[in-house]
Amino acid sequence: MSEVTQDFIVIGAGIIGLATAVRLLTEGATVTILEKNKVGQESSWAGGGILSPLCPWDYPDAVTRLTDYSAAMFPAWVAELCEATGIDAEYEASGMLVLPPYHAEAAHKWRISHAAEVEQNAFSECFSRNKQNIPLHFNVENALFLPHIAQVRNPRLLYALHKLAVQLGGRIIEHCEVYEIITQHNRLDVLATSCGKYRADHFVITAGAWSKQVLGKHAFSLDIKPMRGQMLLYKFAEPPLRSILLQRDVYLIPRRDGYLLAGSTMEDVGFNKQVTLAAREYLSERAQGLLPQLKNMPLINHWAGLRPASPQNIPTIGRHPLLNNLFINSGHFRYGVTMAPGSVRILLNEIMGRPQPFDIGPYQQGWGDY
Ligand SMILES: Cc1cc2nc3c(=O)[nH]c(=O)nc-3n(C[C@H](O)[C@H](O)[C@H](O)COP(=O)(O)OP(=O)(O)OC[C@H]3O[C@@H](n4cnc5c(N)ncnc54)[C@H](O)[C@@H]3O)c2cc1C
Repeated sequence: MSEVTQDFIVIGAGIIGLATAVRLLTEGATVTILEKNKVGQESSWAGGGILSPLCPWDYPDAVTRLTDYSAAMFPAWVAELCEATGIDAEYEASGMLVLPPYHAEAAHKWRISHAAEVEQNAFSECFSRNKQNIPLHFNVENALFLPHIAQVRNPRLLYALHKLAVQLGGRIIEHCEVYEIITQHNRLDVLATSCGKYRADHFVITAGAWSKQVLGKHAFSLDIKPMRGQMLLYKFAEPPLRSILLQRDVYLIPRRDGYLLAGSTMEDVGFNKQVTLAAREYLSERAQGLLPQLKNMPLINHWAGLRPASPQNIPTIGRHPLLNNLFINSGHFRYGVTMAPGSVRILLNEIMGRPQPFDIGPYQQGWGDY
């Protein structure tokens, strides 16, 4: 049994677990993070770092309210992390160009209801360095440019959070897998893990796609499952695009130093993180359709991650319905990077009994009947 007395144990060191731990540490709590592999190597590393739903009008308010709230925190959050750790997560308000086909009527309603800034005929925003690269078959008239959409370099964000958690005195135990939660009365009493038993006053499950497994029979109807996403990486001498480019399910994300990501697939294949030739061919063909220059570019890397999929992309954030000292922050599905600081703020409000910025009911309905 771990004899160290601690206020919180956080289970899982992806972006949600690290951001949760850092906020708890900042508030003065003692925190241990248990991670079954290495810190920040799963979905949070694999993602693209776009700070918005791909087509925001396709999602319910419970998603866009949280993504809007959370995305607005990023400039200050990334700057604070950079000041504290020296690691720049490269927040960039690069904007996103959405090419047709998309749901034009829903997009129009969303623009009005969200007073969202949208520009039409904005191809130059995306291609201005390389206008000759605009493919001739593009439907320029009906493209939408969303200038407020930003991106971060998620692996760097994870390094910064990891470093800050350590600086703030957090204890991080890697290669420590939680097998079982053992309860007594209405409390989580002990965690059985691959490196012994652990006790704490409070526990937070941030195990991404594995959260339901960690909860075992205490998951009730919580519907969180893995959804594989594959991604390709290319490298240019300088960025071939100025903004993110999206058409249907495929997007290109230009990084400052010329790296370009092309993603992503949505595959319901269980806990299988293997990459496939079919996905590589599909993504590279679609990416070349968006940016013909890619035909001459070698593929630098190809990887897969397991998103924590939840119904309608609505995460579960807050206290367990029966176990008073157990909290969850999971199920962020396609937008866990975007939702990270906002979800953590909501969770901390819940733990500390502070007012919430809006109705958080939708994030507490995932447990179903119990
Ligand atoms: C291809 C792809 C593209 C994406 N693009 C974007 C994007 O552009 N923008 C965006 O906002 N989001 C994006 N996402 C989604 C985003 O990455 C996820 O929603 C987010 O990373 C989830 O974070 P997490 O911390 O909950 O999960 P994870 O990062 O998966 O972390 C969970 C951690 O828990 C650990 N763990 C699991 N079980 C146990 C256990 N029993 N004991 C101890 N530790 C355990 C795991 O090892 C892991 O480290 C993308 C995802 C993918 C795969």
